[in-house]
Amino acid sequence: MQHAIVIEHLSHRFNSRYALKDLAYEVRQGEIFALLGPNGAGKTTTIRLVNGLYTPTSGRINVLGMDSVRQGSQIRQQTGVLTETSALYERLSARENLLFFGRLYGVPESLLLKRTDEILQFFGLKNRESERAGAYSKGMKQRLALARAFLTHPRILFLDEPTSSLDPESTQQVHELIESLCRQEENTVFLCTHRLEEAERLADRVASLNSGRLLALGSLPELTQQFNHGLWVEVDLLQPLQNDPSSLRVRGVIDVQVSERKIRAQVAEEEIIPSLVATLVAQKAQIVSVQPQKVTLEEIYFKLQSQAQEGAV
Ligand code: ATP
Repeated sequence: MQHAIVIEHLSHRFNSRYALKDLAYEVRQGEIFALLGPNGAGKTTTIRLVNGLYTPTSGRINVLGMDSVRQGSQIRQQTGVLTETSALYERLSARENLLFFGRLYGVPESLLLKRTDEILQFFGLKNRESERAGAYSKGMKQRLALARAFLTHPRILFLDEPTSSLDPESTQQVHELIESLCRQEENTVFLCTHRLEEAERLADRVASLNSGRLLALGSLPELTQQFNHGLWVEVDLLQPLQNDPSSLRVRGVIDVQVSERKIRAQVAEEEIIPSLVATLVAQKAQIVSVQPQKVTLEEIYFKLQSQAQEGAV
C-alpha cells in the first residue's frame, strides 16, 4: 500500500495550548480521506502542518516521500489547497484568475492555456469565463476556487470545508465535481469537513478528531462494526402482532420494540435477521416488509464525540 501522507507522533502547540496531540496515521494514495471534527478540533492546523507552513512542535510528517519541514516548498508544488475563504481575485475574470495562478506556479504558457480551457469547460464556467469573479454567485465562486486548486494537477488536493457556504444544488455540483475529478485524475483528496453527509458520500476512510486527538479512523463499514453494537431492523406487519413481544427475543435478538403494526428489533448481526423472520412466520405474523436500518456516519460521529467529552475514549 502506497501512502501519500504519513504522520508520526505529531503534536502541535500554539503557546502553551496543544492544537494537536500525538497523532499517527497514514493517508493512502488515491483515496478520499475525510478529517471530521467540531470547531477547533485541529483540522486547518493539520492542513498547514502537512503543507509545511508550520513546523510541528514534535513528530514528523512525510508527504509524497518528502519531509514537511525541510521540503515544504517542494510539497506545495505538488499539492492544491482549497481553503474556507477562497483566495480569488474578484476584479479578474475566471479565466484571468486561472492564468494568474498558473503563471504564479510556473506552469509553461502553452500548457497553461490548454489546461485553463479544459478546466473551465470541466467546471461549467466556460460560457462565463470573461465575467469578473466578483460578480459570480457563491456556488460559481466555489467552483472557480476548486478549479484553481486543481489547475496545476496536484497529486494531493486539500479541501477545507469545500461546501460550507453553499446551497444544496451547488453542494451537489461540487460533490459531483470532486468525485469525477478523483476518478479521472486519480488524486489523493484530504477533505476537512463538518458535514457528515459530505464525508459519508465522498470519503473512502474517515478520521474523527476532537481537541486535537484522534478518536477513530476507518472506512464506514469498519467504524460501524467498531462502534455500533448491533443492527436495527424494522418489520412492517399487515395486522398487529398477536403474541407478546418478548417471544421474539430469540438468540441474537438484543431488543424488541412493538408499536401497532411496526416492530423494531435490534439484532447482534445481519445473520440473525432470517431467524427473527422465521419466528414471526411461525407466529403467523403477516409480514409486509423487513428493512435493516443503515447506521449513518452521523450516529457514529456523535457517539464518538460524546464519548470523548465524557473522557471515555
Ligand atoms: P474550524 O472548523 O473552526 O476551522 P479547526 O478544526 O480547523 O476548526 P484549527 O483552526 O486547526 O481547528 O484550530 C485548532 C486549535 O488551535 C484551536 O483551539 C485554535 O484556537 C488554535 N489555533 C489555530 N490557529 C492558531 C494560531 N495561529 N494561534 C493560536 N491558536 C491557534
